Amino acid sequence: MSTTIETIPSSEKISTSDKIPVSELLSRLQAGSRLSYEDWKSVEDHASTEDLRELADSLRARLHPDRIVTYIVDRNINYSNVCVSVCTFCAFYRKPGSPEGYVHSYESIFEKVEEMLDLGGSGVLMQGGLHPDLPLGYYTGLLTELKNRYGIHLHCFSPPEIDHLAKITGLGVEAVLRELRAAGLDSIPGGGGEILVDEIRRKRRTHCNTEEWLNVMDTAHSLGIPTTATMMFGYGETRDHRLMHLERIRELQDRNPGFVSFIPWTLQPDNTPIGKRFPDRIPGEEYLRWLAISRLYLDNIPNVQVSWLTQGLDVGRQGFHFGANDVGSTMIEENVITPAGANHRATEMMLREAISAEGFIPCKRRADYVRIESPLAARVQS
Ligand code: SF4
Repeated sequence: MSTTIETIPSSEKISTSDKIPVSELLSRLQAGSRLSYEDWKSVEDHASTEDLRELADSLRARLHPDRIVTYIVDRNINYSNVCVSVCTFCAFYRKPGSPEGYVHSYESIFEKVEEMLDLGGSGVLMQGGLHPDLPLGYYTGLLTELKNRYGIHLHCFSPPEIDHLAKITGLGVEAVLRELRAAGLDSIPGGGGEILVDEIRRKRRTHCNTEEWLNVMDTAHSLGIPTTATMMFGYGETRDHRLMHLERIRELQDRNPGFVSFIPWTLQPDNTPIGKRFPDRIPGEEYLRWLAISRLYLDNIPNVQVSWLTQGLDVGRQGFHFGANDVGSTMIEENVITPAGANHRATEMMLREAISAEGFIPCKRRADYVRIESPLAARVQS
């Protein structure tokens, strides 16, 4: 079906297609065929968790026959928590003028980077709120300094931040991305994707809209900047919203590839306005079903990451059998999801042991998924 944003019907108008038996749809997936958005509704309704697991595991094995599961040692640095947006699922931001608002100095960020390097880290994931008047020079100066001083991989600024910078500078998305890349930006994290359906984004007061988010990633891909994509779910969206999110990511990746990974994770409701309406976390089995569906739907994205931070390491381990070939970061520092209730912790050794215990080979990577160990070294160390 067409996936232009204007022609997507609302979930209420779409009825599930039951014309093709689900066994036939599963056979098509097994044979490597793609299913339509309509067919996926039937699969999500009727396929058993075990069927989804087997199919996702089989696609993971085809894409990654070396049985390597990657992870990263890095640090999430939040340069500022000041934000003009008021997303109802966020426990991190402070409004401009709040006494609890901060903007880190370059020096304090350098200290954090040096601590990260001492722990064997390979780079930083740097994100912040949508600050009303930090100049573009703050961002480009910081990237330049970090690259010149440390030569590390800089995985920075999610689409809402880039879209916001494009608007407050008046430069537009492409010019801002060119400036950031010239200053040292290596790749872009997929934050702010949440659910790419404006019907739900408007209700949750989610920063940039679907078209703006996709436009940042589309432009980044055209400039050769690798990106990741995420899906945050469990905040009142429907099955159809989740499938439409996957459809939109797949469509962009078909048209203009550049996503190196997809990361589904679940709402952490504590201390958030939306948490009062949706206080229950997505259970492990539902998460694993959607992990498998993500792996199968996004057959054009090479890596899928399981979110141990929001689901815990036990579910994380099961995720390796549900299509995930990456377990994400050791999270030396995390300030955005943790205040909303993600209290799981893991060291590099814990992640490596979890990967090995499930019969896979751990391997450290950079934020753009380039491996920084040889598989042989990984095997020897595990
Ligand atoms: S999620 Fe990001 S854009 Fe939204 S309120 Fe929080 S910091 Fe601001």
